[in-house]
Amino acid sequence: MSVCLFCKIANGEIPVDVVLETDTALAFRDIDPQAPTHVLVIPREHFANAKSLAQGNPALAGQVLALATEVATSEGLENGYRIVTNTGSDGGQSVDHMHLHVLGGRPLTWPPG
Ligand code: 5GP
Ligand code: ZN
Repeated sequence: MSVCLFCKIANGEIPVDVVLETDTALAFRDIDPQAPTHVLVIPREHFANAKSLAQGNPALAGQVLALATEVATSEGLENGYRIVTNTGSDGGQSVDHMHLHVLGGRPLTWPPG
């Protein structure tokens, strides 16, 4: 049994609204959406953040990014979208299992708060 929330989601222990999935990555809707489309994309294997994923398994990092772009296509975000990975406390990371946010469906402000 995993203690990590997103490992539990990857294992199917916690149900989510799956958008797309591969053998190595899973895309599911955020429980608290910040835009009309707000999908999280995670590697099935646990990595705490982007650096540990990039260093530990760069091929998997590419697969996670590729799935995020496929989500943008499948969600019809032809006007544009944003892919974000929050890291650490200053970055606003609240779940220590690397994830990409795919946000779109409305104009997104920049810079973020
Ligand atoms: P972070 O703050 O770490 O960048 O992003 C974590 C995200 O996970 C948040 O946007 C939050 O709404 C989402 N989240 C937290 N718990 C759950 C959950 O149980 N299910 C789903 N689908 N999303 C979750
Ligand atoms: Zn995990």
